[in-house]
Amino acid sequence: MKAMVLSQPNTPLVAATLPDPAPGAGQVLIKVHACAVCRTDLHVIDGELPHPHLPLVPGHEIIGTVLACGPGAERYRPGERVGVPWLAWSCGECGYCRTGRENLCDRARYTGYQVHGGYAELTVADERYCFPIDPSYSDVEAAPLMCAGLIGYRALRMAGEGAERLGIYGFGAAAHIVAQVARWQGRTVFAFTRPGDRDAQELARTLGAAWAGGSDEPVPEPLDAALIFAPVGGLVPLALRAVAKGGTVVCAGIHMSDIPAFPYDILWGERVVRSVANLTRRDGEEFLALAPRIPVRTTTTTFPLARANEAVERLRAGALTGAAVLVP
Ligand SMILES: [Zn+2]
Ligand SMILES: [Zn+2]
Repeated sequence: MKAMVLSQPNTPLVAATLPDPAPGAGQVLIKVHACAVCRTDLHVIDGELPHPHLPLVPGHEIIGTVLACGPGAERYRPGERVGVPWLAWSCGECGYCRTGRENLCDRARYTGYQVHGGYAELTVADERYCFPIDPSYSDVEAAPLMCAGLIGYRALRMAGEGAERLGIYGFGAAAHIVAQVARWQGRTVFAFTRPGDRDAQELARTLGAAWAGGSDEPVPEPLDAALIFAPVGGLVPLALRAVAKGGTVVCAGIHMSDIPAFPYDILWGERVVRSVANLTRRDGEEFLALAPRIPVRTTTTTFPLARANEAVERLRAGALTGAAVLVP
């Protein structure tokens, strides 16, 4: 199969021909139709996440068709369409796993990080962590739902049901999905983009944001919660200043630059700063049932698999509106 491979962090992906993978026990072999590019892929490529499996096929927002089932795999039949998310495996035995928090499992393995992902023509996945995909979505449209959607949804839940005025910092793939869910839930959305990013601000307004502007602009009114999707630690004190007493600031990325020191004043008043880590299968089931009902639509730019490096660089430069999706 053709694949784009990371040999060493901080080097470009290299086009390679690898042996076709064979599905092991409980796994399905999947023909990849689309794989979205997540900000986390950049952190893996840039060596900001420790101990990736090298050489590595990145990519954890995979949509494809089951080609074959390994021994004991019986959830899907050949020809069925599935999505493969970031969570590839969890132990099922530890305290986290036994209390519905498999997203925190110490032994968990992640797609496109510790196991090969979807920047390839084929992949294998543990069938228990795959999701069926609603037929109302095309492969390309569905791909960003698998991480931007799932983890965005988890972050939105952490904001709290009572958070009516919601700020979103970093208006990329996750934000453009979360904004639609938040609007559907009746929340008012304030979108903060890179200063001067008029395309992202325009997309935010199109998706129902009441206000869209640069992260350097003053907030029009106090927020009840803020979600930070940009990996920029400096946004944490900015968001804390923007939320009202009792408000929550949710850091939704897996990696962030250092958070600058800030006065206790802006945390006082029962404001909360928290992170969101990974996803549980329950998040996926809930979100993928909800998305077609809203319905969540995704804005995508497609790239042939061989041009994965270009997609990665466009995302890094903020030169994309919505999500980049690789098509083998
Ligand atoms: Zn566990
Ligand atoms: Zn991701």
